[in-house]
Amino acid sequence: MSGFEDVNYYFRKAARIMDLSAHVEQMLVTPFREVKVDVSITLDNGELGTFIGYRVQHDNSRGPMKGGLRYHPTVDMDEAQGLASLMTWKTAVVNLPYGGAKGGIAVDPAALTPREQERLTRRFVQQIHDIIGPHRDIPAPDVNTNAQVMAWIMDEYSRIHGFSPAVVTGKPVELFGSRGREEATGRGVVMALEEHLKDAGLGEVRGKTFAVQGFGNVGSWACRFLHDRGGRIVAIGDAGGGVRNPEGLDIGALLAHARTTRTVSGFAGGEPISNEALLRLDVDVLVPAALGGVITEANAADVRARIVLEAANAPTTPRADEILQERGVTVLPDIWVNAGGVTVSYFEWVQNIQQFTWDEDRITAELGRHMREAYATLARVVRERQVSFRTAAFIVAIGRVGRATALRGV
Ligand code: NAD
Repeated sequence: MSGFEDVNYYFRKAARIMDLSAHVEQMLVTPFREVKVDVSITLDNGELGTFIGYRVQHDNSRGPMKGGLRYHPTVDMDEAQGLASLMTWKTAVVNLPYGGAKGGIAVDPAALTPREQERLTRRFVQQIHDIIGPHRDIPAPDVNTNAQVMAWIMDEYSRIHGFSPAVVTGKPVELFGSRGREEATGRGVVMALEEHLKDAGLGEVRGKTFAVQGFGNVGSWACRFLHDRGGRIVAIGDAGGGVRNPEGLDIGALLAHARTTRTVSGFAGGEPISNEALLRLDVDVLVPAALGGVITEANAADVRARIVLEAANAPTTPRADEILQERGVTVLPDIWVNAGGVTVSYFEWVQNIQQFTWDEDRITAELGRHMREAYATLARVVRERQVSFRTAAFIVAIGRVGRATALRGV
């Protein structure tokens, strides 16, 4: 299945339970707008570099559209459609006044110099500036884009439209970014788990064992928060390999190691482990926090964790999701678990519009409120409808987007 088909599979499963008509279903899955643009730049050596940029705006019934920009060779329309629709459902689950969007450029940014990356970013903004904006579509960082890229976007957009810090989120804190944004997704992931453990009578993070795939922004912050709460992280993998220590990895020392080597691999405080073996470890909680599509039909039967905490976007394929459910593994779904990032992006946008800054305590408290309220709603739907957390999340999201669409009138 393609990325978009995967998301729509989950959508349709929930839509069937909700008895949505085929027409409404089709309208809700169809993207509002899809744009594909030429992003040609002069490279430092004087030659022409031609790249393709994408932006998919999925739905705007609940507010301006929101979603990341990814710079990666695999970026294409299908991936952008799938991730844009996921953003529609995610913002609805945590009840933010946004719709969903996603996009990026098919490029390997590591092959470009910083000056070329800047030219590429500015050219992309010139190509899409009339369809983005603080009240239209607000990009944010995603794979291989960061606060610096967001600063260039803000500057280029402001050059054309006048001072507009609210056109992107994930900006540097010194340039209208928000405190707490960098760690927001990892913090939200751990808040999500704590809510579930409490509600399910499973105790707390302290003493539980974890295997984490991905030690980038989301994975490393999640590990820090889990470690601070007494969780025992027994394995971590990334693109360079993996490391395992049944006694629990020393996260502080591992962060220092990864800062210099850019991978967890080779860490002296543990034994090597492959990413595939990591997914099969006997732990309380498995945390995919890297790529999509890693828990598949081929390995779902071997997952021994009791809980899968989806920190990454779309880490579980639909067939794997069914296998996990049949085996009684609780999957806490991405569209709720990793929504902390977009929630604090929302706070950044609010601060930009108000020209007022919030302190970190307020941001953490408001993030906690959004995650808790979302969980309370999901847990109620799980109990009432006897469905999985993922299906409950889609039921809640589709209900909110559907009601907004109907109230506005088609
Ligand atoms: P990142 O680029 O900072 O880190 C990605 C991590 O994945 C790195 O540790 C990398 O080594 C690892 N990785 C890459 N290829 C791998 C492979 N083949 N096997 C194992 N590990 C591999 O990205 P991030 O921002 O931490 O995002 C991680 C995931 O979380 C993505 O799915 C992203 O869409 C999702 N997400 C991120 C945010 C956010 O705020 N950053 C918000 C919501 C969802």
